[in-house]
Amino acid sequence: MITILPATIDLHCHSTISDGLYPPEALVAHAHKQGVKVLALTDHDDLGGLGVARRAAEQHGIQFIDGVEISVTWKNRTLHIVGLKVNPADTALKAALAVVKQGRISRAKLMSEDLEKAGIEGAFEGAQAMAGNSIITRTHFARFMVENGHVKNSKVVFKKYLVKGKPGFVDHQWMSLEAAVTLIKNSGGTAVIAHPGRYGLGMVNMHLLMQEFRGYGGEAIEVVTGSHTPPQYDQFAKIAHRFSLKASLGSDFHGPGISYMEMGCISELPTTCVPVWNDWPEAQHL
Ligand code: AMP
Ligand code: MN
Ligand code: MN
Ligand code: MN
Repeated sequence: MITILPATIDLHCHSTISDGLYPPEALVAHAHKQGVKVLALTDHDDLGGLGVARRAAEQHGIQFIDGVEISVTWKNRTLHIVGLKVNPADTALKAALAVVKQGRISRAKLMSEDLEKAGIEGAFEGAQAMAGNSIITRTHFARFMVENGHVKNSKVVFKKYLVKGKPGFVDHQWMSLEAAVTLIKNSGGTAVIAHPGRYGLGMVNMHLLMQEFRGYGGEAIEVVTGSHTPPQYDQFAKIAHRFSLKASLGSDFHGPGISYMEMGCISELPTTCVPVWNDWPEAQHL
């Protein structure tokens, strides 16, 4: 089996196409500076950065993997499913994500109405200005609220606003787990459960999720991610093994200073894991 140094592969990060701070070219340049050799761009619900990022990666000698992070509703919770090696030209995937993009606009308007009741005006326009042509996310609302002095920083935003039970939260209906996994698979990709440790699932639901996900054709879970603690690396390595799932690794980098982890600073997978990139030609040279 090949062994890969920790910092050289990163299969989860965001550009300005979703809620990252760097445009795709700059993100790839940053990855290169940080020593990343195999990189997947996984913007939320949008494939728009992949072409540019791939060309930038070629210039830097980085092996590029087309990716996406799809928002899903499962048992009244929001989960994120990463697709790796998806086809950016796949019509069904593109059409489904276009629907999500529109849904995000409707959701943002409702979020804004709710924030207005809490005394925060013009949030939709403000967040949209932050997003530009990108999909509109809670991160853009957070940036607007911080920049306009409503809230001290984005950490406080996600504590006092935009989350369940707080102003600006909208219980949005995302795609089903089955639809996300099927779209990813049908476009030639591999479905990966992103940061499973972040959903607050008890053991019963966690196991149900793994089983259901596998049943739809899902193949891997993130074991090492910026949003897991080192004890969670071991916990999810065991779960991956138990459910015969491969393991993925990614920083979930959004930008300098605003991410759980910097690119190229991430631990290796526990040795018991089967890496999701095990049989990828792009990762053989490492
Ligand atoms: P959305 O997909 O619009 O619900 O936005 C979700 C995004 O908000 C995530 O991808 C994160 O980038 C960001 N986010 C969620 N929770 C937090 C948090 N506690 N602190 C900072 N950013 C967060
Ligand atoms: Mn994000
Ligand atoms: Mn996520
Ligand atoms: Mn992410």
